[in-house]
Amino acid sequence: MLVNDDHSTQKNLPSSSCIRKKRTVSRIKQNPKQKMGDIEDLLKYLCQRDKKNSWLTVEKEISSFQHSLLEWYRQNKRQLPWRQTLMEQHPNPYHIWVSETMLQQTRVTSVIEYYKKWLQTFPDIPSLAASSLERVNEIWAGLGYYRRAKLLYEGAKTIMSCFDGQVPEDIRLLQSIPGIGPYTAAAIASIAFNKPYAVCDGNVFRVLSRLFSIDLDISSSDNQSFFRSLAQFLIFKDKAADYNQAMMELGATVCTPKNFDCKHCPVHHWCNSFQTATERQVPLNDIVGQYPVKFNRVKQSNEELQVYLIVFANYFLMLKNVSRNLLGNLWHFPYVTLKRNGNELTEDEKLQHERCLSRVLHSCGYPLNDTNDLLKLLYESAIPIGQVEHLFTHIKQTIYVKFVRLSSETSLVVENSSHRIGGIDPNDESIEYRWLTKEQMETSAISRQMKKVMELYQQQKKQKFIHSFFC
Ligand code: SF4
Repeated sequence: MLVNDDHSTQKNLPSSSCIRKKRTVSRIKQNPKQKMGDIEDLLKYLCQRDKKNSWLTVEKEISSFQHSLLEWYRQNKRQLPWRQTLMEQHPNPYHIWVSETMLQQTRVTSVIEYYKKWLQTFPDIPSLAASSLERVNEIWAGLGYYRRAKLLYEGAKTIMSCFDGQVPEDIRLLQSIPGIGPYTAAAIASIAFNKPYAVCDGNVFRVLSRLFSIDLDISSSDNQSFFRSLAQFLIFKDKAADYNQAMMELGATVCTPKNFDCKHCPVHHWCNSFQTATERQVPLNDIVGQYPVKFNRVKQSNEELQVYLIVFANYFLMLKNVSRNLLGNLWHFPYVTLKRNGNELTEDEKLQHERCLSRVLHSCGYPLNDTNDLLKLLYESAIPIGQVEHLFTHIKQTIYVKFVRLSSETSLVVENSSHRIGGIDPNDESIEYRWLTKEQMETSAISRQMKKVMELYQQQKKQKFIHSFFC
């Protein structure tokens, strides 16, 4: 017996309190290498938990399930740009790679625009490999997780140097390329080359957990292996490309997190959660809405920033994030971090931000003798224009925005090419800065939260009562 008896002896669906209790499949946890070999035990587990899952052991039923799903997909699939590009009768693997990487960031509707822009700029792997990281970040700007853009770029270089510019079909070779992990490798191998590898994104985890009323926490990596084995078992091997896309499409358009449409679902006949709700004559949400089970929601920390829009003539002062963190290499407005994890930053930490700004303004020719002059400028001239919020996976940022117009009588050197200034003492890092107009910002690598700051500025500028100040 693969699973602990506590699970296997349950005949009925677990109660909600039971669902909330954390579970993992014990043997898979103990012996992860056996997960694919244990498919029979896995099926036994699902069938013993609930007879409604027993169609999994009937070949004809599995085939009907697959055909029903594929037929629905044929008739209902969305016309997405990466589904329309062919290379020797197959979807172009480079396009699948780009789209799958982008889809890990945000919703399909937002990705389309970025995807088109990306392919206009880098139509193929040689053009991406020959570009620069700065240009790659500019095109990716706004999607977040810039590390993924960098990995796409590095991956393209690897394909040029190790694979003669051709995306390999072999899943192990695919995983040797920077930026291509097991998920993306399975997506490229199956969608572009029709190889029989199941692709499991969040949509597929949700569909499977509802199809078989699986009360295992999908945020646990052990349990994810369980779901992957199940997905691999169900795949229609001859039509892996369409089957994988059909499962993901079902989760994205019908079996959605909240507004699931079971009545029009092509597989409701096989769906444990739907059948259970129907039998018990209870609202669908009482059963379907309980799945998937997820315990380890990411804890978010709070951060507060004070951002300064420092403007001279029509130019905004921008600094480059030179660190290797989430937003490395992107341009941002000068800011001071006020709080991290709800705690105020120390005076020393704040002073470091202020000293950096002071050095930049001094380098442009602004008459500042020391940091006190800068503080005087910021406190006396800065006008608060509002705040914006931005969510990263782990961080909720509250950004207070102040506007500072430098006097036109000041003689400043304002250029949009970037300048680097070295540290004055060993504690100072070198800083890169440039001055950009609003229009130039649109084609520069600027983070999403700084774009929100700019949008706030534009909205405020439109309001008449402050119009005279901004212009
Ligand atoms: S019947 Fe409902 S819960 Fe089941 S797979 Fe379809 S949409 Fe999801």
